[in-house]
Amino acid sequence: MLRNPLEDWGSALWRVALVAVLGALVGLFVGHLWWGIAGSLAIELVRQLANLNNFLDWLHHRNRRDPPDSSGSWGDAVSLVSRLHRRKQFHKQRLLQMFRELRRSTASMPDGVVALNADREILWFNRRTAELLGLRRKLDFGISLASLVRVPEFASYLGKGDFSESLRVHPRIGEPTCLEFQGVPYGERQLFLLVRDVTRQEQLETMRKDFVANASHELRSPLTVIAGYLDTLSHESELPHELRAPIQEMRRQSERMTAIVSDLLELSRLESTSEPMVGQSIDVATLLTDLRRDLLARDGTKHEIIVSIESPARIVGDAGQVHSAFWNLVDNASKYAPAGGKIMLRWWVDELGGHFAVSDTGPGISPEHLPRLTERFYRVDPSRARDLGGSGLGLAIVRHVLQRHGAELNIQSEEGRGSAFTCHFSRARLKS
Ligand code: ADP
Repeated sequence: MLRNPLEDWGSALWRVALVAVLGALVGLFVGHLWWGIAGSLAIELVRQLANLNNFLDWLHHRNRRDPPDSSGSWGDAVSLVSRLHRRKQFHKQRLLQMFRELRRSTASMPDGVVALNADREILWFNRRTAELLGLRRKLDFGISLASLVRVPEFASYLGKGDFSESLRVHPRIGEPTCLEFQGVPYGERQLFLLVRDVTRQEQLETMRKDFVANASHELRSPLTVIAGYLDTLSHESELPHELRAPIQEMRRQSERMTAIVSDLLELSRLESTSEPMVGQSIDVATLLTDLRRDLLARDGTKHEIIVSIESPARIVGDAGQVHSAFWNLVDNASKYAPAGGKIMLRWWVDELGGHFAVSDTGPGISPEHLPRLTERFYRVDPSRARDLGGSGLGLAIVRHVLQRHGAELNIQSEEGRGSAFTCHFSRARLKS
């Protein structure tokens, strides 16, 4: 156990005094008092210097040597330093062990992880990242990741600073490899980048999309033929009376199938286009007037249709797609609002952007259905929706079109009190 430093200091002084007294006695004995004292103090000084030398020597080589065998204050200093040294070694070992564990566990991860600094230079990466991105250990540390993964979308993803969504890219031109990057910010503008190989997933998705597009395409021609014959038959004056009702039903069902097939084809087209959006200037006022006219032409005066155009602003986008999305909303309102009900189309602009809303006085939708409404074939009341001739794909088309235009769909509805579907376009999408 270490002694109190004050006690130490006291006993050291006593020791010097004792040495001086002994020196004085010897000096008196030989007749040179002062020489005796000076000689004994010089011997003590040499002893202390030797201790200091041993101590320093051991400090320099303490990893390889045993501590010097010192007593008194030197002994305390040696044991204090030994203790600190042992503690440091212990923590060093622990950290080293933790670091090795971390390296072993990240090396066995199926996904890649890269740590990047604020300038998006590589600080560290695991083995899987090296395989996926072709990085070299040590050589690529400190290098900007965007200069190694030379894909423009990737560079802008890293620079954007918004990592709420992941990014899929094909890092090597002409190769099917598809990687998904997900940024996870940490510390002061540092970033963990998770890298996943989604090639297989992407191939399956492409296969699914191709299958739906091809199947719909193949179904279209036979359906057109069947619908044509059924149409002719239904107008046949010599058709036996008992066949009239079944033929009418078959005609109605073939029309539904045609609607489903054409909606599936439209969805496939929307999903497969990776080209940037065409930037046509869409006159919203004319579009709403046309929608009202088409609805009146189809349903007559079944509903009261009110159009409120509160801004001359235009939308920049694909006119065909925007028309299709707006028509789907208007069509739904007319399908679900009861006869004599009201349908309101409204276009207005505020500081957030442009908004197109379709509200109706229909049955409304209970809240638990709202989050799933834009899924394909999701219906609140399947039999009712089928009776009304819906394909179940209308809102999925709306969602896709809006996504392509950087817009959002908001649905507000209460059971028994009608619904309001609003498309929000950012200011960047508007033109006066
Ligand atoms: P559908 O062709 O069946 O109308 P949609 O994708 O257009 O398919 O709509 C999905 C479901 O959302 C509908 O089946 C219906 O239950 C509900 N829905 C859509 N619009 C309205 C509306 N205006 N009022 C009440 N329910 C609606």
